[in-house]
Amino acid sequence: MSADPVLVIHGGAWAMPDDMVDAHIRGVTNALAAGWRVLERGGSALDAVEEAVVIMEDDETFDAGRGSFLNRDGKVQLDALIMDGATLRAGGVGCVEHLRNPVRAARKILSESPHVYFVAEGAEKFAAQHGIPLCSNGDLIIPREVERLRAYQAAQDDSKADGKDLFAPAADDPTISHDTVGAVALDRDGNIAAATSTGGTLNKAPGRLGDSSLIGCGCYADNESAAASTTGWGEPIMKLVLAKWTADRISAGNLPEWSAQEAMNYLKQRVNGHGGIIVLDRQGHIGIAHNTPRMAWAYKTVKKQEAGVVREGT
Ligand code: ASP
Repeated sequence: MSADPVLVIHGGAWAMPDDMVDAHIRGVTNALAAGWRVLERGGSALDAVEEAVVIMEDDETFDAGRGSFLNRDGKVQLDALIMDGATLRAGGVGCVEHLRNPVRAARKILSESPHVYFVAEGAEKFAAQHGIPLCSNGDLIIPREVERLRAYQAAQDDSKADGKDLFAPAADDPTISHDTVGAVALDRDGNIAAATSTGGTLNKAPGRLGDSSLIGCGCYADNESAAASTTGWGEPIMKLVLAKWTADRISAGNLPEWSAQEAMNYLKQRVNGHGGIIVLDRQGHIGIAHNTPRMAWAYKTVKKQEAGVVREGT
């Protein structure tokens, strides 16, 4: 099957303030350009989503790679997944602390390992053995995030003194940023792929893994249904296995646009979750939806390119 290529990107869904909109649109547009270069020359959807996500991991605007949120101990801990819709091969890494581009390690796992998922030191060892240089955790930390964690923990101490309930205090608040990044692509051979990369949530407990790098939760791709990538509060998204749930709606005959919107309704109604999703099927139909005030998104087809922070119909 041959197809006209399509690429869709997201860069987090939350109540993004006005002064951060430009940086997000620039970031997703740069990622779109990098992924499109691959698709345009006949490259694979898998290569396209990897290259697009690398650009956003390198961009400090986003909660992925350098510039990610810090965990409770003041460290960056990263998760990423990449999945090939043609073969269902996937590669995932969780809780890595010494990789600038976790999606590159995830891709190596997909291509060169009989396993699907590696965590922590094992993932870093695998990456190093496959030619990916390690960095120090300090290389991934930027002053903005040190200050953000400090302010957050100080506010938590105040709340504790006031006797307030601190369960999931940041993660269930859509005004706290969700800047996870993701991409879905359709290539000229008619194959689809997806990738998602994140630093997780602010002040997360060390070792906490979110939805982003789990197959079917934050990322999924199957030529027989769809490619999807999510962002938002990870715990509710995981409980619904939301990316796969959405892909299943498409294999049942629904369009990605409707399915993406339904996924957001389901997330809200069933578990009071918030976030956003991008979806793409093999026919090139796209779905972009969020139940947060804003989500950074961009897409490109042979005929059209668009980017924004609010998707009509959401
Ligand atoms: N879903 C991510 C997580 O919970 C966070 C995000 O999308 O910003 O790890």
